[in-house]
Amino acid sequence: MKNAYLLSVLETVKKRNPAEPEFIQAVTEVLESLEPVIEKRPDLVEANVVERIVEPDRQIIFRVPWVDDQGKIQVNRGYRIQFNDAIGPYKGGIRLHPSVYVGIIKFLGFEQIFKNSLTTLPMGGAKGGSDFDPKGKSDNEVMRFCQSFINELYRHIGKDIDVPAGDIGTGAREIGYMFGQYKKLTGEWSGILTGKGIPYGGSLARTEATGYGLCYFTDEMLHANGKSFEGQTVVISGSGNVALYALQKATQLGAKVVAMSDSNGYVVDPNGMDFAAVRELKEVERKRIKEYVATHPGSEYHEGCSGIWTIPCDIALPCATQNEIDKASAEILAKNGCYCVSEGANMPSTPEAIEVYFANKMLYGPAKAANAGGVATSGLEMCQNSARLSWTFEEVDSKLHGIMKNIFAACDSAAKEYGMPGNYMAGANIAGFLKVAEAMKAQGCV
Ligand code: NDP
Repeated sequence: MKNAYLLSVLETVKKRNPAEPEFIQAVTEVLESLEPVIEKRPDLVEANVVERIVEPDRQIIFRVPWVDDQGKIQVNRGYRIQFNDAIGPYKGGIRLHPSVYVGIIKFLGFEQIFKNSLTTLPMGGAKGGSDFDPKGKSDNEVMRFCQSFINELYRHIGKDIDVPAGDIGTGAREIGYMFGQYKKLTGEWSGILTGKGIPYGGSLARTEATGYGLCYFTDEMLHANGKSFEGQTVVISGSGNVALYALQKATQLGAKVVAMSDSNGYVVDPNGMDFAAVRELKEVERKRIKEYVATHPGSEYHEGCSGIWTIPCDIALPCATQNEIDKASAEILAKNGCYCVSEGANMPSTPEAIEVYFANKMLYGPAKAANAGGVATSGLEMCQNSARLSWTFEEVDSKLHGIMKNIFAACDSAAKEYGMPGNYMAGANIAGFLKVAEAMKAQGCV
């Protein structure tokens, strides 16, 4: 990066956020992509849009005390980072995982600005979470934590202010407890969270949306480059919400998914991973992926999650967590003939891994475009709640499909317009940025 303005903004970000490597990584990637835009648009420099967009509107950090099943008071830390509301109310998930700290929530909130912009729906960017670990907790413990989390958060959110959703560790159960507590505290029924259960305002196809959307985006990218899912071998990391429905859709599109993982290890099934069995294990029984081999002869379990990238495949869909593919894993993928990496998780590839993809001319679908189907469908859930309507599964799925096609087209055309055809990462960053930047400029210095 050579542009003096962008370099000075990046220096400021590094100085202000010294112990937040994930946030600095996310900002660096976006600013590098913006160089040709900034060269062409002195008006955006004049309005100092880039320095404004890298600083959150506000960061809320709070105590979350809750009582465990032994009657002991436990304390976690809660976060909500409202990053940018230039194009709509804040929107973004809540992550519950022991690794959560301010730098993780900030990188996710920053990415969310551009992702939400790409969906074409009016949603600003935010993210929240806590270092609470729902794994191994009873339903009652999870409920008491969620209620305490909302006891503070409720005063900062609202259907036209900020609408949180799920993410790692926050699924339908957690959203249900949070929604119930919000309603209790405010006495108001409103679509304040998305990813709600179907009987109380949730949207059909929201559960499937991120995984399906990932496959719809990837399918567009493959077709634009003369390929398709048909007959291809796919590896998917993770076995949570995104991974599960990516498995279902990739299989429906004619691919064979041969491996999936969790944070302990990975399973290889040369016959193709069995969607119904993985769903039962993960969604109903809340068990580990290793249990899969007991009922699937011919499949094998291996300890250690990064080994999944040594399994030969045509297409890799990382759907677990940030920085899960490093340079070494990317090199093994390329050496084994993988020609496409498309990201279900947020920022799953390190910058060095992305260099390997480009050096090997692999197709690369960046997270903020490829996994935007989840938040897009959350936007559709907000529409249904406001209109007091519920659409059929097919209606929502077909809108999602259309949105993902448009997102690919926007990334493709921005990449071409700025002289980087085929670089969908740059295309996503530029297309996502421009809309928010125009809105910020139009709204003046606020
Ligand atoms: P889930 O909690 O449902 O599943 C997460 C999966 O990733 C689990 O299999 C989990 O294994 C694994 N995982 C989590 N942390 C790690 C880690 N540190 N190392 C290795 N594996 C890990 O989350 P989601 O499926 O909802 O989210 C997955 C990714 O997709 C995240 O990056 C999230 O931000 C992103 N995303 C999610 C959206 C959604 O709609 N849910 C929307 C857009 C992006 P284990 O059970 O062992 O922890």
